[in-house]
Amino acid sequence: MTTLVTGIGELATLDDSLDGADHDEGLGLLHDAAVVVDDADEVLWVGPASAAPAADRRRDVGGRAVIPAFVDSHTHLVFAGDRSREFAARMTGTAYDGGGISTTVAATREASDEELRVLLRERVDEMRRQGSNVIEVKSGYGLTVDGEERALRLAREVTDEVTFLGGHVVPVEFASRRDEFVDLVTGPMLGAAREHARWIDVFCEPHSAHAFTGEEARTILEAGRAAGLGLRVHGNQLGPGPGVRLAVELAAASVDHCTHLTVADVDALAAASETTVATLLPGVEFSTRSPYPDARALVDAGVTVALATDCNPGTCYSSSMPFVIALAVREMGLTPAQALRAATVGAAASLRRSDIGVIRVGAQPGLTTLDAPSHLHLAYRPGVPLARLLDLSAPPLLDSREPPT
Ligand SMILES: [Zn+2]
Repeated sequence: MTTLVTGIGELATLDDSLDGADHDEGLGLLHDAAVVVDDADEVLWVGPASAAPAADRRRDVGGRAVIPAFVDSHTHLVFAGDRSREFAARMTGTAYDGGGISTTVAATREASDEELRVLLRERVDEMRRQGSNVIEVKSGYGLTVDGEERALRLAREVTDEVTFLGGHVVPVEFASRRDEFVDLVTGPMLGAAREHARWIDVFCEPHSAHAFTGEEARTILEAGRAAGLGLRVHGNQLGPGPGVRLAVELAAASVDHCTHLTVADVDALAAASETTVATLLPGVEFSTRSPYPDARALVDAGVTVALATDCNPGTCYSSSMPFVIALAVREMGLTPAQALRAATVGAAASLRRSDIGVIRVGAQPGLTTLDAPSHLHLAYRPGVPLARLLDLSAPPLLDSREPPT
């Protein structure tokens, strides 16, 4: 069945080749627009409402702005327990060093498959209610062969973008046997993971005793690549380090956090802009009270930038891409248009995808409506629940209502 979505006050297509669109800020904007989609979210037509073709049914969004659904390219959604007390302690001065992950590992190991499945699905639903569609999900709170296999199998139930993060932290039981843990990750754990995962990731952070050095990270990533997985890296979160340049050297699809970058790191990312995306996670800086990276400087240098939530129980328990956009604009120097690009096409690039994050014929982004006349309201009205994934199977309860201005 095809649906004509019409009454779109402002359509941000993110398609830089769309005829008749305003390309000044790279959003491919159309006004008084319409989109025809099928039940698989595939876009069949985009253009002015006055020229829209007929479809099996019609959905009028009442003058709202419409954007491609957000792509959340970095999440850790398969976990049990919470770390609200750790957060409270951090807010009164306790520094974050990556050690709290073991608390979540213990709680996750105790949870049943069904408990984890319910928690995961609730979190995915929460993201969709805030306008995200395609979501990357990492393992990393099992840290045994069976525990990682289980997390990846459950993640695969909700997304194709599944990432094996056996190299999340060195578990406490391996603290004095780090080499043995790297052998476990690159051997039996990877063997169990490859059936479910598309990506491998590692927490490369020489400033934390719980994370992995550059050489350990290289060993893990090279093993993943040999097993046919694409590469992602957690790098340069807690201080300058080898993560960014290791990611660039190994042609990883994404290096994430990038909180502490040297000039040489920025130059390397700019030279690799077709290959390696810098995924910024400002919710983490917010939730750990850390300095924000200068995202504007990265964009100006020619780096491909993505934004994601890093939704996880320790350093950023937020599922909200609009919140991330507001932070990127307010705290990291991006324009609203640059932030929206980073949260859609930028994040899609970090997953090596061109079929999401853009409203273009043949793409399957999912459409997100804003209870607002313009995408500018995402940063202008922080904390207000404006964005929601358009569910064409649900009755159009609110669609005739005029959006607030
Ligand atoms: Zn992360």
